[in-house]
Amino acid sequence: METRTFISKRRCSFRIATGCSDTAENIMVKIVAGDDFGIGSASPSDVTHETVKTVEGFLAKVPKKIVGTDEGDLSGVHRRLDAIAPGNTAAKAAVDIAIYDLLSKRERKPLHKYLGGTRGDSVLTDMTIGIESKEVTVKRARKHYKEGFRALKIKVGLDLDDDVRRVAAVRNAVGPKVQLRVDANQGYSVEQAVRFCEAMKTIDVVLVEQPVKAEDYAGLKKVKDRSPVPIMADECVKDVADAKRVIRDRAVDLINIKLMKSAGIHDAITINKLAAEAGIGTMVGCMGEIQLSIAAGLHFVLSSDNIKYADLDSHFNIIDDPSSRLEFTDGRLRAPGAPGLGITTPFDE
Ligand SMILES: [Mg+2]
Repeated sequence: METRTFISKRRCSFRIATGCSDTAENIMVKIVAGDDFGIGSASPSDVTHETVKTVEGFLAKVPKKIVGTDEGDLSGVHRRLDAIAPGNTAAKAAVDIAIYDLLSKRERKPLHKYLGGTRGDSVLTDMTIGIESKEVTVKRARKHYKEGFRALKIKVGLDLDDDVRRVAAVRNAVGPKVQLRVDANQGYSVEQAVRFCEAMKTIDVVLVEQPVKAEDYAGLKKVKDRSPVPIMADECVKDVADAKRVIRDRAVDLINIKLMKSAGIHDAITINKLAAEAGIGTMVGCMGEIQLSIAAGLHFVLSSDNIKYADLDSHFNIIDDPSSRLEFTDGRLRAPGAPGLGITTPFDE
């Protein structure tokens, strides 16, 4: 297994309710099995308590024969990864994605077809606007509209009244047809969240993401029961166990799945399946990811009709992305037709 670390600058700094970031760090992994190889990548973040150092440290402990004798046995791969250490989900995602790339290349299918997808090769994605002044927020919204985006995700959670004004200003600026999503990143109390969601209803926002603290599952359910807008879990659902909890308690209407939280596609499939069985839709989101793992998220979106939304936009803001080939037309992110992820990286050389 080979690894390469890329520290990329963001085009503009990105502020959310829990902090601010100027860089995006990604670690690429190449796994070779016989004549075939697959590539994946990890994007460490506070959400999964990982850094470049922890990812590199974890990957250094992954045995060379991680795929074992049966390369299709992803459960076995994850058992071996979990035996190294718990957590480290972004590092595990890199290995998982590389193996799915390898397996689908071997069958000469784009990954979404390998996963059984029948919904075509593209999906509407939003573009996220961090917490900025009302003027800058509106300026960015207009710019993204011109770039072709027809869905926008606005970060909120620092100041409720200002948040409502900013979202309303974006709605005015882009008109009624653009889909608006809002993410509070745990910034509100239950009472604030309910008030905020009532205001969002009048602005025709389709979902409000993680309004309260990740550990406040009871509060999340209270918001969900009183909100006129669908509530989505993000930080409070990292793995299959968390997903089971919010599904059992009917604490949310939607779940944001991110491959960096779920240790890759294998458990993302399980979370989405459990959600679908409970009538809960999902979104696939991302961290500060390069095209490589964004492509993995996209292929996963295209594999299931239960995935209602895609929030796959981090690569648009990364300067010098070492991976390429994803296309964006008419507000939609398009998967390459080539086998596997279909992404070109320095590992191909
Ligand atoms: Mg979120």
